[in-house]
Amino acid sequence: MQDLTGFSFAELEHTVCRFGLPNFRAKQIWSWIWRHGLTDFQDMNNISKPIRSLLADHFIINRPTVSRRQKSKDGTIKWLIRLSDGQEVETVYIPEEERGTLCISSQVGCTLTCSFCHTGTQRLVRNLEAGEICGQILLALDELGDWPAGNSNRRLTNVVLMGMGEPLFNYNNVAKAIKIVMSGDGIGISKRRITLSTSGIVPEINRCGEELGVNLAISLHAVNDELRNELVPINKKYNLKTLVDAVRKYPGLSNTRRVTWEYVMLDGVNDSQDDAKALVKLISGIPSKINLIPFNPWPGVSYKTSQPKKIDKFAAIVLKAGYASPIRTPRGDDILAACGQLRSDSVRLRARERP
Ligand code: SAH
Ligand code: SF4
Repeated sequence: MQDLTGFSFAELEHTVCRFGLPNFRAKQIWSWIWRHGLTDFQDMNNISKPIRSLLADHFIINRPTVSRRQKSKDGTIKWLIRLSDGQEVETVYIPEEERGTLCISSQVGCTLTCSFCHTGTQRLVRNLEAGEICGQILLALDELGDWPAGNSNRRLTNVVLMGMGEPLFNYNNVAKAIKIVMSGDGIGISKRRITLSTSGIVPEINRCGEELGVNLAISLHAVNDELRNELVPINKKYNLKTLVDAVRKYPGLSNTRRVTWEYVMLDGVNDSQDDAKALVKLISGIPSKINLIPFNPWPGVSYKTSQPKKIDKFAAIVLKAGYASPIRTPRGDDILAACGQLRSDSVRLRARERP
């Protein structure tokens, strides 16, 4: 049985054709899956019964299982999702006044080991399939009752790839999933409402802009190589100059389409006024926003969040240089759903424990 939620539209068309069905069947099935949220072929009432049964004999329309659902006092919802091999990832929905953002994961764990990030402490890592990436969105749409068909007041308007994992280390599956989510005949979330955050996998950055055109966010966190090597170790491979050069060339950047620089505020580590001045200098000439993220602690970590006064001073310098610098209010921190707090307990099962 193959799961249709991992199929691109072209793959679905090809499959329909293989079964000797006309092309428009692919459009109908696509719409039932991605606009109406159906999981049972028998409910596809514009398709004849024999064809519904034929489809049901060969395919499923899957949903991941929810292992745990937590709701924060600020309305943020975090799902611990169980994948078909038993591994788990987290997905977070963040409601705001004018929009609702879903923060999705691209890998189980992360191979990188940024020193301030909880996900980086998880040993087991595997890439998510395109269907598993989309599955997080399907699940959220189910739970929020927010399917596109006949719905003019969508609750899930934005998607950010800021959950577990480094999306540019799983480029092909991430790109496939993003294209499915952008499809106007399906969920239809535009590229302007999708943001991909990367720690700086330089060779993939341009491709991401050319092929997907989504908003780019860069996890900067330090303005000199010595400190960035320590905080974001991938910097030893792709240093600041290489990274900033790649971002400068990101297709489509303009004053209405800026890159976001994420900067976690770590007490006494990267939060001085000199750091703020160096930051402004480093990104000079690039259409930018700077997102200051107060560090979110997690069990066992030794970093501390910067003093609010220091964050304000830092923000003032950045603002004076002409950059918007919103300070990200932690959301869902009471349920460890805030940035950098995600981590599942997935461990490598010994052979005899595998299902
Ligand atoms: N791997 C990608 C995307 C996921 S992380 C990346 O690193 O960009 C999303 C953001 O949260 C990144 O900017 C990350 O650096 C930041 N982050 C990680 N741990 C954090 C923590 N404990 N507190 C605040 N932000 C954190
Ligand atoms: Fe991975 Fe991003 Fe966490 Fe670094 S900050 S360990 S790249 S998830």
